[in-house]
Amino acid sequence: MQPADRRLPLLNEMQRLTDEGKHCAACPGHCCTAVANSMQTTPLETQDVLNYLRETGRWNEDLKTALRASVTKFRLDQIPGNGKRSYLRRTYDCPFFAGQSLGCTIPREVKPYGCLGFNPTAPLESEGKSCGSDQNLLAQREESWTGEAEANEELRKKYRLWWVKLPLPLALLEADQAGF
Ligand code: SF4
Ligand code: SF4
Repeated sequence: MQPADRRLPLLNEMQRLTDEGKHCAACPGHCCTAVANSMQTTPLETQDVLNYLRETGRWNEDLKTALRASVTKFRLDQIPGNGKRSYLRRTYDCPFFAGQSLGCTIPREVKPYGCLGFNPTAPLESEGKSCGSDQNLLAQREESWTGEAEANEELRKKYRLWWVKLPLPLALLEADQAGF
């Protein structure tokens, strides 16, 4: 299944909310910065982003340096646990956030599921007060494709990954190093 197909229920809901004026255009991007962002990705989600970055020529030394700086600054590699459970989710400025006017530089079709499922529920939201994660929709998406868990397990076995979910900057570096 293609990355966009796995995201379809989330993309449809985002579009529905946007059509009702419930979008992020007026917000400085609280959920993409250390104010509220603690996004973690599975191997499959990480692969989607990494493939996109490679295909578009963005997977270069500058980006890797920025990702390493993010890991160091926000201590993303110092999360207690073994990557299977996170007892503490660290918040961090997402390196893919380009500021309020440009927003996220990762296209919707490959964006982490959690990013797509977190949306405003009021028009012209600017402070993030009405925003939240649509857990039901995220669960529905997971149920709509039963191959997800298997695909993640295959990647974990194939590349001998020690982790199930990691903060996006660290996940990308680990995936690259593992040979994705
Ligand atoms: S989801 Fe909410 S907090 Fe995040 S950028 Fe959009 S309006 Fe701001
Ligand atoms: S990937 Fe995009 S939407 Fe998700 S936290 Fe980073 S900048 Fe925000």
